[in-house]
Amino acid sequence: MNAPSPGTRGFESRLLWQMPFVFGQARSALLTSAAATVAVAALFHPVTPPAVILPWLFACLALIGVRLALVERHRRGAADISVAGALIFLVTTFLSGVAWGAVPLVFPPPGSPAHVTLAVLCTGGMVAGSVLAFTASIELTLAFMLPSLLPVTITAMSGRHESLGPDLGIAIALFLSYSIVACVHLNRTLERERALATEAAALLSRLEDERRRITDLNRRLAADLDRHRRTTQEIRAARDRAEKLSTLDGLTGIANRRQFDSAIGAEWSRGLRQSSILALAMIDIDFFKDYNDMHGHQAGDACLQAVAGVIAEHARRPGDLAARYGGEEFVLLLPGTKIGDAVLVAEMIRRRIAALAIAHPGSQCAPVITASVGVAALVPRRESSSEHLVELADAALYRAKRAGRHRVEVAAAAP
Ligand code: GH3
Ligand code: MG
Ligand code: MG
Repeated sequence: MNAPSPGTRGFESRLLWQMPFVFGQARSALLTSAAATVAVAALFHPVTPPAVILPWLFACLALIGVRLALVERHRRGAADISVAGALIFLVTTFLSGVAWGAVPLVFPPPGSPAHVTLAVLCTGGMVAGSVLAFTASIELTLAFMLPSLLPVTITAMSGRHESLGPDLGIAIALFLSYSIVACVHLNRTLERERALATEAAALLSRLEDERRRITDLNRRLAADLDRHRRTTQEIRAARDRAEKLSTLDGLTGIANRRQFDSAIGAEWSRGLRQSSILALAMIDIDFFKDYNDMHGHQAGDACLQAVAGVIAEHARRPGDLAARYGGEEFVLLLPGTKIGDAVLVAEMIRRRIAALAIAHPGSQCAPVITASVGVAALVPRRESSSEHLVELADAALYRAKRAGRHRVEVAAAAP
């Protein structure tokens, strides 16, 4: 629809902007005015010569026909309203006004004030109708109203008409003024409403744009998240693979469980071949869960690293292996070490861990981080296995815990 914004205030663009609204309500108004035209012609037919009535009737109907054609063309969506179409509508409306302005001046027979009054009422009625029909356009209302009522007003005021006195002139002038005021008022209200509607439409369209932008952003975000999730999974899988292949513990840097398992297997076989003794110390930090709970996991990790450092320092001879067995449990494998020497090493480790002086107010056995140690040693035999040595050290560690922690216990079956 050709409807420039109301902000453009050129005469033509104003007219173009108003036309769609005028056309929206003009059809019924024009049909009504055709009926009124025929009725007025019939009303004055007995007193007005046909030579006056008939040309007036046909001229009025033709003017209505032209405007109806414009309205119908627009209603069927045949074309946007052109400037020419709008001007034709304006001019034909003006000519209609001229025709209706002629009614009080030429229709009543001479010397009949009653017919003059009737004619003025008919024209006045048409003007009132035009105020309602053309609310959207002050230009159109004035184009009809002024030629309809100004001639009769001027004629009446001049006092030169035998049946039209100045009093009627004043009455028509008042009616004309009120009609103009009403027309301006109605038009302003309508324009305000239309401006609001335009603003609301613009807002809605901006909202729709925003909605589309957010949907698009959401889609991109979801795709990014998905990519991120996949990458994280890949990294985790790669790390797991790397850890499985690795022989070192990721946190403490000493040997991991995998390396310990293969080392104890190898040392067990060597012990079998050489009938040499194999010792194992199992070291577990006391009340470490409470330490984590009180100081946080990161502090716990740092503590594990410090303790691992102490244990690793005591793996001094070739074949000795300090490893992280799991969680806060460590092992020290000491091939060719008798139980007495292994206990000495375990004692040193226990003291050195306490000497780290890592404050642990939650511990029930000392104010600092301590460890319990289980020690076992045996000469490997065919009917036994390395797991048996681990079980012995573990049982000793269990007893150290039961006995109050922060101590070294020796396996009962140790030779
Ligand atoms: P106990 O004296 O009987 O050994 O008590 P505990 O609290 O030391 O033993 P428990 O088995 O109840 O708890 C072991 C804790 O070790 C639980 C877990 O939070 C902590 N832990 C295990 N692995 C890690 C690790 O890699 N980092 C940290 N920070 N904590 C760990
Ligand atoms: Mg523990
Ligand atoms: Mg434990």
